[in-house]
Amino acid sequence: MAVNEKKGKLLIFSAPSGSGKTTLVKYLMEHLGNLSFSVSATSRKKRSNEINGKDYYFLTVDEFRRKIKSNEFVEWEEVYKDSLYGTLKSEVERIRNTGKNVVFDIDVVGGLNIKKLYGDDALAIFVMPPSVEVLKTRLESRGTDNEKEIATRLAKAEYELSFSDKFDTIIINDDFKKAKEDTVAIIEKFIK
Ligand code: 5GP
Repeated sequence: MAVNEKKGKLLIFSAPSGSGKTTLVKYLMEHLGNLSFSVSATSRKKRSNEINGKDYYFLTVDEFRRKIKSNEFVEWEEVYKDSLYGTLKSEVERIRNTGKNVVFDIDVVGGLNIKKLYGDDALAIFVMPPSVEVLKTRLESRGTDNEKEIATRLAKAEYELSFSDKFDTIIINDDFKKAKEDTVAIIEKFIK
């Protein structure tokens, strides 16, 4: 990267599972230029619709733990038992050095950790679901998680909602069209 070129900014999207965050992030990536998605590493099982290297870098628990030991993560967490998730330093730097803005779709605690590390270079956005009831319906209709996994995700959602006021901004995902417009407007203003 040329010396006078700016490093990309960090756009962090966090929300309880099922709040529509991933769909919003996908929309944003398709409608705004100069963004690149930070692919996280995880030790959870790959879902049938996911692609290694695109949705996540799927690692075994051992591989993941080796990378923790060699200090390769900006942040990592055991989001669910035995399901480790983390942001690789190499991924963030690779994108930022191209001058592109980095988009994160990560859990609430991880999101706040990245915000703390990068300060004003980062915007932390909380995607608020209309209610826990709606979350439950969305997780059930998504059909990718079994009953036990859904219960775990819902229990975590209630905990995560309590962190919403620590974020720079909150997008309420009640009306999807409005949420999309709000997201684009907020990001355009921040990266300008
Ligand atoms: P899922 O299994 O549904 O893909 O993701 C479960 C949770 O892990 C979501 O809240 C997702 O945002 C979060 N997650 C994904 N990648 C990362 C990461 O790199 N770090 C952290 N802390 N959480 C992540």
